Amino acid sequence: MVIITLQRDKCIGCNYCVEMDPVHFQMSKKDGKSVLLHSKEAKGFFTLKSNNHALAEGFELAAKACPVKIITVKET
Ligand code: SF4
Repeated sequence: MVIITLQRDKCIGCNYCVEMDPVHFQMSKKDGKSVLLHSKEAKGFFTLKSNNHALAEGFELAAKACPVKIITVKET
C-alpha cells in the first residue's frame, strides 16, 4: 500500500508538486493551492491510498520538491 498525504491549508501554491507529478496534483483555480486528485479529506489532511507501488516514485518526487514539506509518502 502507498499512502500519500497533503496538508493542504499550508500550501503556498508554488506548483512544484504539479510539475513533478501532474497525474496526481493539480493547482486549484479557486484558491491557488494544490489539489491531490481522488483524495479524501479528514481534518485538513487529504489522503490517497493505492496498491500500485509504481505510483510512489512520482509521489516521492513531489514530496521532495515541496518547499514547505506538507506532502508525505508512506509505503507499507
Ligand atoms: S509543492 Fe507544496 S507548497 Fe508547492 S504547490 Fe505543491 S503542495 Fe503546495
